[in-house]
Amino acid sequence: LYRQPGYAFVGHDVAGESEGMTAIRTFVGGRFIDPEPGQRFDKTNPATGLTFATVHEASAAVVDQAVAAARAAAREWARTPVRERAAVLRRAADGIEARFAEFVAAEVADTGKPVVLARELDVARASANFRTYADVVSSAGQESFLTDLPGGRQALNYAVRKPLGVVAVIVPWNLPLLLLTWKVSAALACGNTVVVKPSEFTPSTATLLAEVLVDAGLPAGAYNVVHGFGATGAALAGHRGIDGVTFTGSTATGTRVMQTVAPRVRPVSFELGGKNAAVVFDDVDLDEAVAGLSRAIFTNTGQVCLCTERVYVQRPVFEDIAAGLVERARALKLGDPSDETTTTGPLISEQHRDKVRGYLALAEQEGAKVLTGGGVPQLGAELDGGSWIEPTLWTGLSNTDRTLREEIFGPVAALIPFDSEEEAIELANDTDYGLAASVWTNDLRRGHRVAQAMNVGMSWVNTWFLRDLRSPFGGMGMSGIGREGGMSAMEFYTEPTNVCVAL
Ligand code: NAD
Repeated sequence: LYRQPGYAFVGHDVAGESEGMTAIRTFVGGRFIDPEPGQRFDKTNPATGLTFATVHEASAAVVDQAVAAARAAAREWARTPVRERAAVLRRAADGIEARFAEFVAAEVADTGKPVVLARELDVARASANFRTYADVVSSAGQESFLTDLPGGRQALNYAVRKPLGVVAVIVPWNLPLLLLTWKVSAALACGNTVVVKPSEFTPSTATLLAEVLVDAGLPAGAYNVVHGFGATGAALAGHRGIDGVTFTGSTATGTRVMQTVAPRVRPVSFELGGKNAAVVFDDVDLDEAVAGLSRAIFTNTGQVCLCTERVYVQRPVFEDIAAGLVERARALKLGDPSDETTTTGPLISEQHRDKVRGYLALAEQEGAKVLTGGGVPQLGAELDGGSWIEPTLWTGLSNTDRTLREEIFGPVAALIPFDSEEEAIELANDTDYGLAASVWTNDLRRGHRVAQAMNVGMSWVNTWFLRDLRSPFGGMGMSGIGREGGMSAMEFYTEPTNVCVAL
């Protein structure tokens, strides 16, 4: 499935690689470097289970080199005028668009996600990220103000925002290029240099992006890529040459990264897990709500941090919403990700499928009734080795069940009835997480009221995952620390120095 037109991958001809294998290489100081002995791992396609690439794993010594390269480039890039930095970012967006088909194919091969989704969501957003931060950094200004002193004198206060320096960017596998470019474009726009550690499951597009950034005129050393597992991420996050860490991933890993960073007291931005709720009122437009909720539950096989796993439905429309969602779930088309009509891909890995299957079993023990799904689909010979799972809906669970408290990160959701608005707010907020929520109602005032009452970073009314990239993005509680997006990202990727001048 990875051999699609347009998928000619970087660094293909590396001596010592097995024949037919793509080599996914480490990028340091503006060039791809040779692998270290024994530091390689296989990359398989989650739709088929077949290996298609060898990834060069970065040891702590290579992480050192990458951080040194980023540090060497930091001063010059920070001094590069904003309009020139913005121009590089815009050329990077053009470069992604020029190689659109390659990025899509690489993302599909790495994740198994449907080609339509990779095209419309992941890769489209990658170029939009670069354009957004080129605009944001070009238009950002600083406030200054006068302070009155005794005796009629005054002081002028202003702040200059300076880049952090070298930023470690650690990202997960679910929206690899989208999340990577979300951070890298903002960090570079602000004048930082970066060392990125993509997920071990999705090394391809970060590597391809290196070529695009070179072509866009980014100075050598401003973007570096180290591949590997948690150890590589930890070596990077804890490195003394790192001035800030931006991390997206699970809450469990986030807490470890925080411990790693703590001794050096560096700023962190954490975008972590969620257990997101939808609240559906009985005045809703049923068809519109079912269509929106179905997207919220099943997009990317439920592997979006914003996906809904808890659906609270007001009792009078409970049966209708449940029936509508079951119909939608059964209409999803699982299959070859490169097929234009496929809507739903596999889970990222066998180990993740085992985790999700564990929750299917747990839900049953906790008394769930399966409305649809609950098993492993049979998709035919070529896809037998993939990590597939059926879209699944439950009823009969309550907030005290583990199934409703822990993030599952698969195409699964539970439907729970409620009676009053207060009860719905209480149930939705009864979680350790606080990433996203959606409210479905035709009552304008109730929509605003309930959306604001949700203890989350992002709250939607009658939609889901609609994003203006200038708006703040992040989570409360165990879903994260800080916000990125628009000016919020400028605040994270820079530090102000206040200057006070007695006049
Ligand atoms: P993960 O936490 O397992 O891995 C994330 C990254 O951290 C990977 O690159 C991994 O190699 C690296 N890593 C692992 N151990 C590390 C360590 N000790 N030190 C440094 N780095 C380490 O997450 P995942 O399974 O790749 O991604 C899924 C999770 O990401 C879900 O929980 C999901 O909710 C979350 N997520 C959150 C957002 C958000 O914006 N809040 C967006 C997407 C995904």
